[in-house]
Amino acid sequence: MRYSPRLATVKRSYIREILKATQDPAIISFAGGLPSPDHFPSQAFAEAAHAVLTENGAAVLQYSITEGYPPLREYIARRYADTLGLDVPMEQILITTGSQQGLDLMAKVFLDPGDGVLMERPGYLGAIQAFSLFGAAFDTVDLGPTGVDLAQLEAGLAKKPKLFYAVPNFQNPSGCTYDEPTRREVARLLAGSDTVLVEDNPYGELRFSGTPLPPLRAFAQGACTVLLGSFSKIASPGMRVGWLVADPDLMHKLVTAKQASDLHTSIFTQRVLHRFLTDNDLDAHIAVIRKAYGERCQCMLQAIRASFPEEVRYTEPEGGMFLWVQLPEGLSSERLFQKAIARKVAFVPGHPFYVDGTANSLRLNFSNSTPERIEEGIHRLAECLKELLAT
Ligand code: PMP
Repeated sequence: MRYSPRLATVKRSYIREILKATQDPAIISFAGGLPSPDHFPSQAFAEAAHAVLTENGAAVLQYSITEGYPPLREYIARRYADTLGLDVPMEQILITTGSQQGLDLMAKVFLDPGDGVLMERPGYLGAIQAFSLFGAAFDTVDLGPTGVDLAQLEAGLAKKPKLFYAVPNFQNPSGCTYDEPTRREVARLLAGSDTVLVEDNPYGELRFSGTPLPPLRAFAQGACTVLLGSFSKIASPGMRVGWLVADPDLMHKLVTAKQASDLHTSIFTQRVLHRFLTDNDLDAHIAVIRKAYGERCQCMLQAIRASFPEEVRYTEPEGGMFLWVQLPEGLSSERLFQKAIARKVAFVPGHPFYVDGTANSLRLNFSNSTPERIEEGIHRLAECLKELLAT
């Protein structure tokens, strides 16, 4: 077949492959990046869908405009003002089919084969895939408990990459968050460069401890920035509704790219979602999710403290859905995975989150398991780790 070479360097998502192996309900899975299904507001969505179909059936089943349903864009603009004090005109908001589409559109608008993209290390797998498809040449900046390594960022920006991709809140996969001094410094470094910041914030509202911080965009006044958002983690990932915030010139290009991709995000889901948002109290809903994830995270951390060997390091997230475990040098998370699956517990070995490979880290998801299963799963993992250390 005369396939395009475009796909040759793009790996199939390792996580989706692992998820296939974890379909067995007996497996305690910390592998997926799934929000808790216990907190999906199914009934409220059923009512919203019924209302929009009976009240406005023709409009919700018709084609619509690429930019997105205006009242939904207004809702997002208002929410930025209310929650973060950010002034974002609704004209600068484009509704996307999940924030994943925002990554695809940015790649389409900016990248030709060989163009530089600076990523966090470890980085979000879906972004690695989206940018790889357009031939990105990756460079990386280490991510730690206070954010990216600033010296590495300065050196990386000096090579003039087209994009710098960052997830400053409760990053996937590490759970790390940039502190305020790091945000200011990142913004200062970006202001002196012509690299475009792609700031991805799907987890920002899922903070269960510490103090909320403004996005990088709020500090990076002189720089070109695009901010991605999503309803996946605060309402439903299956709806596939996200958005991006961009200045007018760039917005024009992104809208053109989106027209070529999918004409517009399903107007039916946009209107159901909007109806859900206006008829229900989103803040109250998010508060319930935050509380549950905070408890699950604490439960996982306590179980890790109580049972993991001392040499194992781990992050302590203030929000989001993941924590990151670093095994001692020489221990393979792949080997741990094989042992763990035999004991019916799963996680994601860390190597797919690196564009340059590494073998001794792993990602644990805490949002999608009950506290009882978290305790049991961590206990089993600890036994596997001790066995591995003893060999
Ligand atoms: N960015 C990051 C950092 C994510 O973790 C995810 C979801 N796993 C996405 C984007 C994609 O989310 P969406 O459902 O909005 O497409």
